[in-house]
Amino acid sequence: MTDRPHPLLAGNWKMNGLRAALGEIAAMEQAYESDLRTRVDLLVCPPATLIHAAAAMAAGSGVAIGAQDCHAKGSGVHTGDLSAEMIADAGASFIIVGHSERRADHGESDAVVRAKAQAAVRAGLVAIVCVGETEAQRRGGQTLAVVGSQLDGSIPPGLTGAQLVVAYEPVWAIGTGLTPTPGDVAEVHAFIRARLVILLGADGAGVRILYGGSVKPSNAAELMRVPNVDGALVGGASLKAEDFMGIAAAWR
Ligand code: PEP
Repeated sequence: MTDRPHPLLAGNWKMNGLRAALGEIAAMEQAYESDLRTRVDLLVCPPATLIHAAAAMAAGSGVAIGAQDCHAKGSGVHTGDLSAEMIADAGASFIIVGHSERRADHGESDAVVRAKAQAAVRAGLVAIVCVGETEAQRRGGQTLAVVGSQLDGSIPPGLTGAQLVVAYEPVWAIGTGLTPTPGDVAEVHAFIRARLVILLGADGAGVRILYGGSVKPSNAAELMRVPNVDGALVGGASLKAEDFMGIAAAWR
């Protein structure tokens, strides 16, 4: 019997945050006291412009800093892109790849997401691979088929539980205030766990599976109690320290 993976609470700031917002990360560090540190890992993924400053500020606080995307290549003629190596050099330790907003806005396929996850690991970082169904796919009873095929196409082979995090984010729950029922979350997370074991062998049991989509302080405890939910990926409610640490209180 494998131990349950250590929980991770991750914030995705998306295209939000000027330098003044670093004060929110400072406030998170303040509130992230030693007892809470033993219960849940904390990660903030600000826009790329803030990674270096945030990482320098958060050093030694236990709060990790991550990125929201990377290019698959290490360097080259790709104007405007950032490689995983550059992101590592700026002080990040995680990279979110395959967020539904990138899959939709930039047409990122599973193959592209897999190459980006591979790049994150190549640079020594942890890849957070996002999967999730649209509202039409859920209504059509395709949730497990969609999530299964995204996992098959997006997860690089041979990763360990320490190199990979999977975030289940139903597209219809992101930023809408809607969430699946705990029973629905349990079904999808159990399915993801089983698929990870098929894809990665015993290492699949150690991969953290986050739930994402309208997590807030008032619903976090209920969602985080669901079996195979090893933490949360939070958008809107990660922008303010008070909300984000209110979610972290689910692990107190
Ligand atoms: C997200 O975009 O990763 C997300 C979960 O957003 P929100 O928490 O705002 O629904």
